[in-house]
Amino acid sequence: MSTSTLSAPAHLPSWPPEVSPEQLDHLLLLATTHALTNGFILLAPPAPTPGNPPTQTFAAPMSIFPTPFPRRLFDRVRLLQPIYNVLYARVALDWEFIDGVFQGVSRVDDFQGALWRGWKSIREDLVQDLQLGIFRSDYLLHDTGDEKPLAIKQVEFNTIASSFGALSQRAGELHRYLARATNGYYNASPEMNRMSNYPENHSLELTAEGLSDAWKMYGRTRAAILFVVQPTERNIFDQRWLEYELMAKNDGLRVLRHTMRELEDLAQVEQLTQRLYLPCPEDPYSSATEIAVVYYRAGYGPNDYSTGSEWDTRLLLERSRAIKCPSMALQLAGAKKIQQVLAEPGKLEEFLLGENQPDVGFGAGAGKLNQNHVDMLRETWIGLYPMNSIGLEMALNHPELYVLKPQREGGGNNIYREDIPEYLASLEGNKKDTSAAYILMEMIEPPPGVGNLLLKGGEKRPKLTEVVSELGVYGVMLFGERKGIVNREAGTLLRTKGRDSDEGGVAIAHPEYGLIWAKDEI
Ligand code: ADP
Ligand code: MG
Ligand code: MG
Repeated sequence: MSTSTLSAPAHLPSWPPEVSPEQLDHLLLLATTHALTNGFILLAPPAPTPGNPPTQTFAAPMSIFPTPFPRRLFDRVRLLQPIYNVLYARVALDWEFIDGVFQGVSRVDDFQGALWRGWKSIREDLVQDLQLGIFRSDYLLHDTGDEKPLAIKQVEFNTIASSFGALSQRAGELHRYLARATNGYYNASPEMNRMSNYPENHSLELTAEGLSDAWKMYGRTRAAILFVVQPTERNIFDQRWLEYELMAKNDGLRVLRHTMRELEDLAQVEQLTQRLYLPCPEDPYSSATEIAVVYYRAGYGPNDYSTGSEWDTRLLLERSRAIKCPSMALQLAGAKKIQQVLAEPGKLEEFLLGENQPDVGFGAGAGKLNQNHVDMLRETWIGLYPMNSIGLEMALNHPELYVLKPQREGGGNNIYREDIPEYLASLEGNKKDTSAAYILMEMIEPPPGVGNLLLKGGEKRPKLTEVVSELGVYGVMLFGERKGIVNREAGTLLRTKGRDSDEGGVAIAHPEYGLIWAKDEI
C-alpha cells in the first residue's frame, strides 16, 4: 500500500506525503516498536483484577504522520490557557453563579443534581482552602469556506479527569523519532526535515508538576497522592506514567490507586483534623497513610455512582483536608451548561474584569487582565445557546448547523445535526424540559482535505482516511479562596480522528494521536 495523496484545498498542504510500500513497512515497524518500547500503550482486555495482573498491551492508536496545524492558532490558544484557568477558578469560587445555573439543571439531570446538592450540603464545612485544576481546553479548526483564514474554536473545557497528558507526550516523542529516523519521512519535503516543525510537548511532566505542587503545598512529606480510578479502565498506562513521573521527581512521594467502591471501605477521616487516611501496608512508618491530594480519574459520570453509596464516599473525601483535583465545585464549573451561560453577553467581562473577583492570579509577570484578553478568549467561541423555546426553534429549523449536548463527559453523548429533531421528538415526561438539560452548539467545521494513516490499537495495517484533529491545551491551576498559587499552560494533545462521523468514529473508545506539525504559513 502506498499513500496516495488526498486533494487538499489551496490553503492546506496535500497530506500525507507519499511513501512507497517498502517505506511504509519500515515506518510501521519503527512506529510500533517505538510505541511499545516507550509505553505509548493501552491495556488489552480483560481488565486486571487482584491476582490477575495485566500481561498484554497494544500500541495505542496512532497517526503514522504528524498532522499539519497552523502555528499561529496553536500558539494563540496556548497563550490563552492561563486566562481560561483564571476564568474557571473564579467560576468555581462563585457559589451564587453555580447555584443559579444548577437550580435549573438539577431539576432535569439526576447526576448533576446529586453533584450540586452534595456539594451544597458540605460546602460550609470545608477545611481545605486550596483546590487543584488539571484542565484541558479542546479546540477544532474552523473553516468558514469563504476564503477567510482558518479560525480556531473551542469544543469544550474539561475540569475533571482530563486524560492523555502522558500518552500525548509520548506521541510527540514518537513523531520526532520517526522524523529523525527516516530523514524527514524519506525526504518528503524540507519542512519535514526541520525539527522545529515538531514542537516539543511536556504535557506529562507539566501535569505531574501540578499534582506535586499541590502535594508540596499540603506540606506533609509522608502524605501520599490518591488516584481515584475506574475498575475497568484500559487507559491505565497514561495514569501510571503520571505516578512514575511523580515518584521520579519527588523523593518519598507515593501514589495509591483505588476505585470509589474500594474507598467506601478503606477511607477514614479523622474527626478533629479532617485528615484523610488510607490503609497502606507498604508504609514504613504506620499502618495508615495520610492523603495530601485526591486526583480523580473517575467520578465524572453516573456509571461511577451506580449503587448510590459512592456519593457518601465522594462527600467524605470532599470534606477531608486533602486537596481535591478537582473539587466538586470545579467539576460543576466544567459542565457544558456553564460553558453556554458564560457565552451570554457580559458574563465574561464580569468574571475576568469584575472589581470584586478574587485575585487568583494570572501567571508570572502577565499583569492585569484587560478587555483585549476578554476579546481574544471570546474569539475562540462559536455559537452556544440554551435549549429554550428559541433554541428549540433554531434546532428544528436548521438542525444541520448544530450539535445538541447533554451535561455529560467522556464522549458518545451528543446528538448531531439531522438526528436532533427525531431525538427531541422522542423525549418524554420531564425529559421534554430541555432548557436546562441540554445546550445547543453551532457545529465547528474543520477544513477538509487533510488525510493521515491511522493505525488502530492491536492492528497491523493502517487506514488512509480523511481526518479531523482536535487540539487540547492542558492547564494547571492551584488556587484558594482569594489567591492563586500556580497558573500554567501545561502542554498539548492532538487527537487525530477519522472524519467519517461527527464524533470522529473510533474516537470514543480509541482516540487517535498525532503530533502537531505546526507550519507557520498555513
Ligand atoms: P465530551 O465531554 O463527551 O468529550 P465534547 O463536547 O468534547 O464532549 O464532544 C465530543 C466530540 O464531539 C468532540 O470531541 C468533537 O469531535 C465533537 N464535537 C463537539 N462539539 C462540536 C462542535 N461544536 N462542532 C463540531 N464537533 C463537535
Ligand atoms: Mg469533556
Ligand atoms: Mg471532549
